[in-house]
Formats: sequence, C-alpha cells, structure tokens
Amino acid sequence: MNKNSSNIMALAPTTSNKRETVCIFGTGDFGRALGHKIIQSGYPVVFGSRSTQTSSLIPKGAEVLSHMEAAQKAAIIIVAIQRQHYNFLTSLAEILRGKVLVDVSNNLKINQYPESNAEYLAQLVPGARVVKAFNTVSAWALQSGTLDASRQVFVCGDDMEAKQMVMDIVRALGLTPLDQGSLLAAQEIENYPLQLFPMWKFPILLSLGLTAFFFFYCLIRDIIYPYVYENQDFSFFIAISIPNRICPIMALILLALVYLPGVLAAIIQLYRGTKYRRFPDWLDKWMLCRKQLGLVALAFASLHVLYTLVIPIRSFVRWRISSLTVSQALSNKTEPLNTTNAWLSDSYLALGILGFFLFVLLGITSLPSVSNNVNWREFRFVQSKLGYLTLIFCTAHTLVYGGNRFLSSSSYRWYLPNAYMLSLIVPCIVLVVKFVLIFPCLDKPLTRIRQGWVRNPQYSE
Ligand code: NAP
Repeated sequence: MNKNSSNIMALAPTTSNKRETVCIFGTGDFGRALGHKIIQSGYPVVFGSRSTQTSSLIPKGAEVLSHMEAAQKAAIIIVAIQRQHYNFLTSLAEILRGKVLVDVSNNLKINQYPESNAEYLAQLVPGARVVKAFNTVSAWALQSGTLDASRQVFVCGDDMEAKQMVMDIVRALGLTPLDQGSLLAAQEIENYPLQLFPMWKFPILLSLGLTAFFFFYCLIRDIIYPYVYENQDFSFFIAISIPNRICPIMALILLALVYLPGVLAAIIQLYRGTKYRRFPDWLDKWMLCRKQLGLVALAFASLHVLYTLVIPIRSFVRWRISSLTVSQALSNKTEPLNTTNAWLSDSYLALGILGFFLFVLLGITSLPSVSNNVNWREFRFVQSKLGYLTLIFCTAHTLVYGGNRFLSSSSYRWYLPNAYMLSLIVPCIVLVVKFVLIFPCLDKPLTRIRQGWVRNPQYSE
C-alpha cells in the first residue's frame, strides 16, 4: 500500500511540470492536427501563419500570430509547410538562430530533389538546429487517434540536444521516437512514406508469375488435353481442381525459396573462404524478403487446406463415388481393400497435416509480438530447424501424393509431367544441398568462416 502511494507521489511532480511552448508554422491540415495533439499533451502551442485571423479549425487554446511573433515565443518551431514555400524563412534567419527547426515535410516522388528537404532547410537557415521528424505520421492518423500501426517516429539531426528536445515531444504524444542518426539520414526518412510495400514486391511478383505459369500448365494438361483426345469437358476444373493444384505447388516452391538463398550463401562463403566479402546484390535482396516469401507461401498453404475441405461436397466427386459404387453393384464385384493405397493415402494426409501445422507455427513466430519475446537462439531454432522440418514434411507430402504413380509414363500428357512433379525440383535441390552441407567436412569450415576465420587473408578484400 505504502509502496503504491509513494509511486503515485513520485509521478505527481513530473506530470504537473510546465512544458515549453511549441511553435508551429503553417495552419494547414498537418499543422492543425499536430497542434491539437501537442496541446492535448500539455504543451502550449502558438501558430505562425500568413494570416493572424483565427478560425474554428484552429485547435482550442492555440494562439495564431505572425511568423516572427510566433517564433519569438518558442525554442522549438515545427515547420508544417510544403518545401516549395520555405523561401520566406530566410527573412526570419536572425530570429531562428539557435532555435530548433523541425522539418516534417514529404515529397511527391522518391529522391525528388538532390538534397533532402531537411538539409535544404538547414541551408536556408544556417543558424538554426534542424531536426527531421513526424513525416511518417499522417494528419488523419493524428486527428482520428488511429496511430496504432504507425507509432514509430523517425528522428534525425546533427544537434544531439535539439534531437533530444524533439524526441521528448514525440514521447509526450504517446509515440515512439527512433533515432536515425545525423541529418544525412533525412533523405531515406523522406523516401520511406513513398515506398510501396518494398519487401513485398519481389514475393508478390514472383507468386503472380509462377501462379500464371502453373495455371496455364494445368489448363493444357487437365482441360485442353482431355478435350482434344477424349472429347471430355472438364472446364469446371478451373473453379476448384486447378486452384487446389496450384496452391500447394506455390506453397512448396515459395517455402523452398525461403531456404534456397541461405544454402547459396553457404556455398558462396565456402568457396570464397570468408564472410567478409559482400554477397551479390540480388542475393542480399532475396535474403531480406525471406519472411515475406514465407508468409505468401503460408497464404497458399492455407488456401490449399480450405480447397481440400470442400472436396467431399463437390458434385463431380460425389458423382464419381456413386458411379463407382453403382458399377461395382452392377458387376456384382467389390474391390478388395488395397492396404498399400490406404497406407499411401493416410501417410500423405498425415504428412500434409503435420507440414501445415509447422507452417502455421513458423508464421506465428515471425510476428513481431512473438519474435520480440524469444531470444536469438530460440528464433533461429524455430526459423531454421523447424523451417527445414516443415520443408521436409511438405516435400514428403507431395512425394507420397504421387505414390506409385510417381514418374510413371502414363501420367505424362503431351510429354508434360504432372504439375506437382515440377514443384518438387526446388525443394529437393534445397534439401539435398542442405544435407550435404551438414557433413562435418563442410559444416566445420563453414562454422569457422561464420565466426570470422578467413581461409586466404590476402583474397578477403
Ligand atoms: P497544407 O494543408 O497545404 O498546409 C500547408 C500550410 O503551409 C498552409 O496551410 C499555409 O499555412 C502554409 N503555406 C502555404 N503556402 C505558403 C507560403 N507561400 N508561404 C508560407 N506559408 C505557406 O499542407 P499539410 O498537409 O498541412 O502539410 C504540411 C507539411 O507537412 C508538408 O510539408 C507535408 O509534406 C508534411 N506532412 C503532411 C502530412 C499529412 O498527412 N498532411 C503528413 C506528414 C507530413 P498558413 O495559411 O497558416 O500560412
């Protein structure tokens, strides 16, 4: 009880501290939204505007003054104005000397100007201490309070004290400041809101390309071929059968592609005998989007599960079962139970269930809320060991699906093998190479290389 009350007492003086006035240049959407939030956090706010007339849109409790008068009242000035209107600030250079100028601006295009807006501001007002912040937060999110997805505020600047003052405001707003270093980082911070799912581009384009390829492949094999040779119309396969063929194929190939760059990196390191030489750019980029590749693979695997669940209620499947039963009844002959087939079918399903379970587990551990709560060794154990186990189960699931028809010449149509056989190429290569890499004669030097050992120091640059 005593302990609690002393905590409350300890908090009281800081919460009643009077906060410094914050000046905001510009009464546009962003200036007003930020001003409203800053007032709510207990800071007095004064706006610097071309027009000192106040309106109902201006947050309650804020003053609207000329730029010069407003700047005199505060040590921190947030410039909520588009970059193309910064010129007028040169006339205020004397008043702004030594003040903290916060650049919140964004551009319309990536690398639109040779220098970042914040560096441009620092050139215009050389005496001011320029800090870049808040550009990744939208006026709408500030106003509606839906900041959950974008609580992080990137901050950069050359003056440590100025940066600290801005980060204090960021924290007071209930946001998380992320110090990105000097003002040189401003360009990257300004480009950030203009990027469109940068890590997802490759996985999504690759998935679209492969899906289109396998769709046409299955179309030729499963619809066009029977139509040409047997005059059978299986066009309805487009709705469920073909998607249910493509989804597991995509899930397996994409999962294998998550592990392929790691295997390639190991081969490159073994060949070069050092880890101190950069991987080729394409490999670096590939490694960076492995999580996204894995999540797309999980989406395909989940779709496969859903499609599989509806198989028993499909009209075509019910027709096939009933016609088989009727033909057996008419010929007064019952097919004996084929134990080999029963084994194959049950093993195929069991491997699929286990593979999907591990797949979901991998997906869950990649969530930041989960991965933040495990240490590096635990994370590696799940993503590497369990990841490979998932790949083994899913590959085995596909191999057993082929069962005793696997590689049989009767399954070829127009010399095209079953699509699932194509999906086995990449996973089998990954698993075989990984298996070879765990042999001590390769694993030991690789471990040493990853610990910093260099085979031929003269070639390491
Ligand atoms: P805005 O609605 O167009 O407002 C900009 C304000 O700049 C105007 O209201 C005006 O304020 C002032 N201004 C316009 N022309 C001027 C000139 N020639 N000289 C001096 N002041 C001038 O823009 P905004 O959406 O608020 O954005 C402001 C800044 O915040 C931009 O740099 C933007 O990139 C950045 N930002 C915006 C958002 C967002 O969600 N909107 C998010 C992140 C960052 P007065 O009439 O009071 O002078």
